[in-house]
Amino acid sequence: MEKQEFFEISEQVFANNHISEFWQGEKRDVLFDLCNIMLEQNKVMNLSAIRDESGVICRHFADSLTVAKHIPSGAKVLDVGSGGGMPALPLAVARPDLHITALDATAKKTAYIASAAQKLGLSNISTICGRAEELGNDVKYREKFDVVCARAVAELRILAEWCVPFAKKDGLFIAMKGKNGVAELDSAANAVKTLLISLEKDDSFNLFDISAQNEADAARHIFVFRKKAPTPSKYPRTNAQIQKKPL
Ligand code: SAM
Repeated sequence: MEKQEFFEISEQVFANNHISEFWQGEKRDVLFDLCNIMLEQNKVMNLSAIRDESGVICRHFADSLTVAKHIPSGAKVLDVGSGGGMPALPLAVARPDLHITALDATAKKTAYIASAAQKLGLSNISTICGRAEELGNDVKYREKFDVVCARAVAELRILAEWCVPFAKKDGLFIAMKGKNGVAELDSAANAVKTLLISLEKDDSFNLFDISAQNEADAARHIFVFRKKAPTPSKYPRTNAQIQKKPL
């Protein structure tokens, strides 16, 4: 896609998703370059099922940036299961005030994120390769982040056990969910209680997505949880325990 068309579509999509503040100045050029880097890399490794520019603009960039308004200025943010760098990379472009760490279990994905960040000249993003439920017990990472977010990684009650240990006391755990969000929230009642977090906001809306196949796919819930107290030391448990008996 030519740059002018990319700019026209993005301007419309960002405006309709109320994130126009991030479609400004040089950020637009960096997002255009990121889209091209991602689509090119997707030809040689499986980064994403989305393989066209309109899909990247709507379902990666705009969707990722809907979380930005929930993240306080200057926060140290961990993106768990970042995959192809979503929401980490667009957030790093849009919010230079943040320091973002992208965590993923797959080394090829964290290597891609680091290489994309370097090509784009982003200095506010770093990567960690490993499994969340193991690194959450590592003193280097446990209770070290102001905000821990995740998109499209695991069911909420499992995701919470992976993510909450990384957040500082009084920090935030932000889960970006789609149409099953409410059902997942219901099933996560025990996880919320056990992990000593409380739901502060359910930001529910429809993503404006020109690439959507049907309307139900546009449903979004951003659940913002506050960590009320340090996570009990027995969490996170091993992956086998978590999968066998989710909280
Ligand atoms: N967040 C990205 C997005 O929204 O496009 C990627 C989503 S992808 C479906 C899920 C990612 O989570 C994969 O890259 C996978 O390697 C990673 N993942 C799954 N379980 C994980 C774990 N226990 N610890 C760290 N990463 C994990």
